[in-house]
Amino acid sequence: MFSYWEQDSFVKYQHIIIGAGIVGLSVALELRQRFPKASILVLERGFMSTGASSRNAGFACMGSPTELLADLKTMSETEVTALFAARKKGLELLRTRLGDDRIGYAANGSYELIEECNLSALEQLEYLNTLLQPIVGQPAFALANDKIKTFGFSPNYTQALIENTCEGEIHTGKMLRALCDLALENKIEIKTGASVSHFEEKAQAVQVFVPDALRQEQWNLSAQQLYLCTNAFTPQLFPEEEVIPGRGQVLITKPIAHLPFKGIFHFDDGYYYFRAIDGRVLLGGGRNIDFETERTTELALNKQIQSKLDELLRDLILPNTPFEIEQRWSGIMAFGTTKMPIVKSFSSRIYGVFRMGGMGVALGSEAAKHLMSMLCL
Ligand SMILES: Cc1cc2nc3c(=O)[nH]c(=O)nc-3n(C[C@H](O)[C@H](O)[C@H](O)COP(=O)(O)OP(=O)(O)OC[C@H]3O[C@@H](n4cnc5c(N)ncnc54)[C@H](O)[C@@H]3O)c2cc1C
Repeated sequence: MFSYWEQDSFVKYQHIIIGAGIVGLSVALELRQRFPKASILVLERGFMSTGASSRNAGFACMGSPTELLADLKTMSETEVTALFAARKKGLELLRTRLGDDRIGYAANGSYELIEECNLSALEQLEYLNTLLQPIVGQPAFALANDKIKTFGFSPNYTQALIENTCEGEIHTGKMLRALCDLALENKIEIKTGASVSHFEEKAQAVQVFVPDALRQEQWNLSAQQLYLCTNAFTPQLFPEEEVIPGRGQVLITKPIAHLPFKGIFHFDDGYYYFRAIDGRVLLGGGRNIDFETERTTELALNKQIQSKLDELLRDLILPNTPFEIEQRWSGIMAFGTTKMPIVKSFSSRIYGVFRMGGMGVALGSEAAKHLMSMLCL
């Protein structure tokens, strides 16, 4: 039973977006730019964004050498370079839209640690630099072996260090808060605790259903256009979409006195990553040692992977420095058989931008912008 007032003022919208992560909020902001007077509503099932956008590592990254070389085994050169360019453009857009201060952007260096079994990647650096030259405008990668000792990494693992000249880092919390604040400043309505159960496309509008436990009934909202920005959770609304969830495990230490490095670091084809943040070390990854268990949308810790992260922190990253772990968490990413994101129109009223993989921080804004060119409005 809804009141006349509720029915009159809170039910009909021109644009409804499902999902308040980086992508959903970026789509909302793109729509506002294009339709200054339209009513825009973002629906988020959680207390706040509850997927990947508030739980990632904050790497403003485009791809490390071993990861790009691994991608080139399953994707064409054209696809790999297009994706690299989209990440680069997306990062530029995010920085311009929100400003470096607001997102804590810094370029403190980005590196890949090369272990013995990956040494052959060094022979391919020139090839990668040539491939990426039109996008980066300078060599993307350079050897930085002199820094291995300065950074204090175990030489048993780290046989070489490659510096990436075009990546940076952000503060994930600040970035998501800035996106939410900008959306509110732009008169975009955000409703949290609003889990869309299903939707139905009609001739005049799309009906979007949101159960309301307190009222013991469901809201039947109406949108001229609906946008699914639900990343790993998309199959719950669109089961036929090829989206495979991938959980990511993370830990962070307490502050460490005289931490010998700053910047962001990748290793093992991008499966592990760590960074310095606020005098601490944040380390994540390890999905590749238990793919099956991590193919889930459940936010939980994986003991096997977390203890692998402990081991890497102790033996590889901080072999000579005592540390204590302060916090552990996980987040949910979305993958497919290719790393290309899905940006598509399902009809003239329903659109989707999802499957951002492990680099949605950089890619998210560009994917949202790309969708605008597909709108039938
Ligand atoms: C541990 C980890 C580390 C990562 N590190 C990095 C990194 O360093 N750099 C990088 O670029 N990327 C990183 N990523 C990936 C990046 O965070 C994601 O690609 C990006 O956040 C995806 O944004 P999104 O908006 O598409 O998805 P999400 O942030 O998952 O947003 C989707 C939203 O939809 C909501 N939703 C779903 N279903 C419904 C429904 N039915 N009704 C209402 N709301 C719904 C969810 O609650 C969620 O908030 C990492 C991810 C993880 C998990």
